[in-house]
Amino acid sequence: MSDWREAARLNALRQLDLLDTPPSEAFDRITRMAAQLFDLPIAAVSLTDQDRQWFKSRVGVDHTTIPRAKAPCAQVADTGAAVVIPDLLADARYEDCLLARNGIRFYAGASLTTRDGFSLGAMCVLGTQPRQVTVPEMKALTDLAAMVMAQIELQHAFGRIDPLSGLANRNQFVEDLEDLAKESPHGVCRAAVLIDLASPEQLSTTSRVLGTAYVDRMVKEGAFTVDAAVGGEVRAYHVAATQLAVLVPAGVEEQGYAATIIQALDASREVGPSCYVTSVAMGVAPFLVGAAAPHDVLRMAHNAVGAARRTRSKISTYSRVEDTTYRRRFTLLNDFGAALEAPDQLRLVYQPRIDLVSGACTGAEALLRWTHPILGPVSPGEFIPIIEPTSLARSATAWVIDAALRQLGRWRDAGLDLRLSVNVSATNLLEEDFATNVLHGLARQALAPARLELEVTESAMMENAEQALSILEVVAAAGVSLAIDDFGTGYSSLSYLQRLPAHVVKIDQSFIRDLTGDERKRALVTTMASLSHDLGYRVVAEGIETQAVLASVRHAKCDEGQGYFFGRPMGEDRFAAWHGAWLGLEDVTIPA
Ligand code: C2E
Ligand code: MG
Ligand code: MG
Repeated sequence: MSDWREAARLNALRQLDLLDTPPSEAFDRITRMAAQLFDLPIAAVSLTDQDRQWFKSRVGVDHTTIPRAKAPCAQVADTGAAVVIPDLLADARYEDCLLARNGIRFYAGASLTTRDGFSLGAMCVLGTQPRQVTVPEMKALTDLAAMVMAQIELQHAFGRIDPLSGLANRNQFVEDLEDLAKESPHGVCRAAVLIDLASPEQLSTTSRVLGTAYVDRMVKEGAFTVDAAVGGEVRAYHVAATQLAVLVPAGVEEQGYAATIIQALDASREVGPSCYVTSVAMGVAPFLVGAAAPHDVLRMAHNAVGAARRTRSKISTYSRVEDTTYRRRFTLLNDFGAALEAPDQLRLVYQPRIDLVSGACTGAEALLRWTHPILGPVSPGEFIPIIEPTSLARSATAWVIDAALRQLGRWRDAGLDLRLSVNVSATNLLEEDFATNVLHGLARQALAPARLELEVTESAMMENAEQALSILEVVAAAGVSLAIDDFGTGYSSLSYLQRLPAHVVKIDQSFIRDLTGDERKRALVTTMASLSHDLGYRVVAEGIETQAVLASVRHAKCDEGQGYFFGRPMGEDRFAAWHGAWLGLEDVTIPA
């Protein structure tokens, strides 16, 4: 056998991770059958390693390994053909071999051949008397060898094949990429395509409406179609519940390749109902072989799938820029839990709210600040939308309310008559104990409920209208003030707003900031204010930055204002100093 072929054979053997593994009944059963069939004392599953025969299974022998040199099994591995030696002593090649010297006279071995045609060794039987074999006996030995190979392949496939689709799984994808890295020269570029058969939302709807069996069928069909589309030469992988992956063959343009896969899927879906409830999105991740870890390749492709879903396109290619954003989002989400526990990462700042008629500071809005240990200050505009849809929103709001109530306690003790507004997320309005927790918190600090205001956005309330309404009714009935935040940016229906027990409407700063130069905006703000007044709300203008804007919002009859013009959000001490100064200034600052 040529050197390279022997090297490839050894490689195939070692990839099976079989050498030096403990005995296993699955193999021993076959070995016993071989011994019985030939009515011989010795049988073995013998694997030909570089310079030894190693027995995965054996009967009638004590040792697990013998030298490869002059072992008949090695001849089987070398030739890939069955070997029968009726009498070792009568055979010049074996008369002085180890077996012969230990009293063995007869040998018959059938090749353990892999699908790729490599002989790993032999299923063999040995006897202490010379013997002949019949054709049926050799046929049986060959069958037993095939059974051993089936067992080897089964064990190897275990953990590498997805039972639902029958495709190679993520473990295999990782292994294949690792092998590719070993085989390829440096600097080779390849691409992976990730095929997302349904978005998480679609998957959830499909499971609920059509059942999980339907989802299974959809995945099976998808796997079948993709496998057929890429052809026998290319492996399709099943890497996550509803995701398949393919490595684009070397030298093939990846976009076009991905497009052919999606065409095949589209064509196959025309016949099923899946086209109404799910849509396929694909992510292409080009990568440098060996430089990108297999899991990173999948992550990049995953990212591209996300981009495809966001832009409602079928195929998207991995972008490093988006990935940086994604990784930052991931870090923030991952680290926020620790921030809640840490003594010095989160703090509240307070932005004053001013009565536009009297000029008095009526209170402040509590705004969360996060100093990340590595990334530094992170704006709530960035981290709040990331944590808001997760279960962290509950702890975050609980943290803020607790800190805000303690602040209110300190202000009260210092003789400051201020109301504090706290921002509440949509998911908080799904917490059954939200109202009780808020009211308990107030009681613990012995605070009048009217000291606290909860700011809720229109969209948060619309998200789960009925439940939100019942929670808000409880807190409002107890005397807590409610404000509709960012008014004008959401999609609320006025009839619905009317049902809310809210007291305050905060017109979003996007309407206020450049109010002076924009006639239409002024008309809009005037209308919003008058409509809100008609519905019984107090109107707060957010984002007042200049004296001119202040004049405009007063003209539009807004009741209160908040913005940099009066004061930026400040920490506790600076707020106290600001407040002291404001008491002396308010008449001057707010011209009639
Ligand atoms: P928001 O509730 O509408 O808060 C007002 C935002 O406008 C604050 O930004 C404030 O600093 C900013 N602002 C106030 N006056 C002016 C002004 O005159 N000009 C300009 N350009 N901006 C002004 P911030 O603190 O960055 O907060 C952004 C958003 O993050 C908040 O919008 C709120 O939706 C959210 N947020 C902040 N803290 C919390 C919190 O504790 N919980 C929740 N759920 N959300 C929070
Ligand atoms: Mg707010
Ligand atoms: Mg706002």
